Amino acid sequence: MYTCKDTINLLLDFLDGELSPEDTQHLREHLSGCAPCIDFLRTYKATPGLCKRALAQQMPQEVSAKLSEFLRSRIKSSP
Ligand SMILES: [Zn+2]
Repeated sequence: MYTCKDTINLLLDFLDGELSPEDTQHLREHLSGCAPCIDFLRTYKATPGLCKRALAQQMPQEVSAKLSEFLRSRIKSSP
């Protein structure tokens, strides 16, 4: 099982385009079942915190835009 921390790492790889289809599936599965992760990602820009800061350091604007796009599709397809 992937932890939330693993998921963030997967997400960064995903945004870099370096995630295997298998891991992408794991990422989607975790995000579809983990409300805290979804909430975190949805509000990562607005909410200060360690994870957010760690993400922001590695997140150029282009990546941030990609993440927003990914989250919109993710949230839209959630029940
Ligand atoms: Zn999680």
